[in-house]
Amino acid sequence: MQKDQNAFECKMCGCCCHGEGGIIVSPTDLNRLKQALNLPEDEIIQHYLLKRNEKLVIKTDSEDQCIFFKYGEGCLIHEVKPDICRAWPFFRGNLEDRMSWEMAMDICPGINPDVEHSEFVRQGLNYLQENNLIMNNDPNAANVLKLYNINGFDK
Ligand code: SF4
Ligand code: SF4
Repeated sequence: MQKDQNAFECKMCGCCCHGEGGIIVSPTDLNRLKQALNLPEDEIIQHYLLKRNEKLVIKTDSEDQCIFFKYGEGCLIHEVKPDICRAWPFFRGNLEDRMSWEMAMDICPGINPDVEHSEFVRQGLNYLQENNLIMNNDPNAANVLKLYNINGFDK
């Protein structure tokens, strides 16, 4: 395995896809789903989403698992899943705080415990930037980026 990709590899266990209300669907996410599923917005909302505190979240099944997760296959909408799913496990807390990263390992077997936190951060920031998952106008994100001196970040 290449060093550049060894901090995380999803094992498709579904642990991070558990629990109602945790997966927020932004307007951008909804647009992506509309195009991928070729369905009008109201049908997507009716079939797959719920409204929680003015936000849209993905429905869960009777076992509280995201309705798009299938055991043995993983995420059925992997290519177009919401940004929050695409960003995991490189959430800002796990990048800024070593203890959060250690706790994340308890639920996510995809995080490689043999890779140092600093390397997890380096790979995570590269991944987030490459996939447009970092907000350059977010001051907290900017601090993390500056701290680790990621090439190409100048905001
Ligand atoms: S908890 Fe980690 S390994 Fe399991 S499905 Fe989520 S990202 Fe993949
Ligand atoms: S959309 Fe996919 S990755 Fe996100 S919680 Fe559901 S099954 Fe998991």
